[in-house]
Amino acid sequence: MSHVREARMLCRKTVELFTLLSHTQETGARRMGMTQELLALVTGLAHYLKILIRIALTGALKLEREQSARDVITFFLDKLHLLAVQGANPSAKRLIKGSHSESLNSINPHANLGTQGVTYGFRSLAPENAGDSPFSQVDMASKVSSNPPSDLCVRCGVTVEEDCVRLGTYQRWHSHCIQCAQCGKVAAAPVTKDQQQQQSSRSGDERDAGADGGAPRPKLSSARRPPANVGLYVYDSGSMKETPSFGDVPTVILCTEHAHPACRGGFQPVQRLEQYAFLLNVALRRLYLLLKQQGVVHLSPGSFTYL
Ligand SMILES: [Zn+2]
Ligand SMILES: [Zn+2]
Repeated sequence: MSHVREARMLCRKTVELFTLLSHTQETGARRMGMTQELLALVTGLAHYLKILIRIALTGALKLEREQSARDVITFFLDKLHLLAVQGANPSAKRLIKGSHSESLNSINPHANLGTQGVTYGFRSLAPENAGDSPFSQVDMASKVSSNPPSDLCVRCGVTVEEDCVRLGTYQRWHSHCIQCAQCGKVAAAPVTKDQQQQQSSRSGDERDAGADGGAPRPKLSSARRPPANVGLYVYDSGSMKETPSFGDVPTVILCTEHAHPACRGGFQPVQRLEQYAFLLNVALRRLYLLLKQQGVVHLSPGSFTYL
């Protein structure tokens, strides 16, 4: 079932909403325009959210009727219900604990690895792994760095808006940017021109996405491809370099054939939806830092207010 375009649009519209919110200091005619823009954005968000929920429900119904999977709908509704119960609490914990409160890492190779062991969302983005949301009640004064996390590829510096590879939560590479320094082998072929053209010919409103003054968006493929071959790659632990956006990052990546004893593994494949969720996470942290600089949000715990 196709859902990638809707998910991508929801992600983009949400980022646009964050951008708009960061311009709250505008006055006069510009402010009037913003109200219109805000209404249009909220309508768009509701539209894509509704479509995505319908796709998920249809998928669940199909599984139940055609594959006789009994508990799929209950499972889906339970997740929605949990969201409501937690009342959008940004510091709600999500890792599923075993009876001895160890994190569950039972891996089912047939399911989406990124969503295993969490009650909802993605494991790499649960507050336990990604850090608390800046909007949570936790005292963040000491924890929020003044460098927002980056949505760019560690190697080529271009935004990653597709399935990719991560090390930890905040270091990400295009799959084709994971390349052996010795033999040049890459973890996955880049998205081809053909796929890109196919995509741009059938995605009307994505073409418009860049038309409102922003830079034109790169056209991305909706074609599914297998996850990056991360098991075949390691990094040279002696090549770590400190960077402002990513912290300590490895600068030399090798394939397992050319690896040496100082090499470490740890690369994880990231699916497209997980990457969109990551982009939203980064956008939210950026919005917070921006509002903080403008003095719109106060830092003391629990007093998130607009002036
Ligand atoms: Zn890259
Ligand atoms: Zn190699």
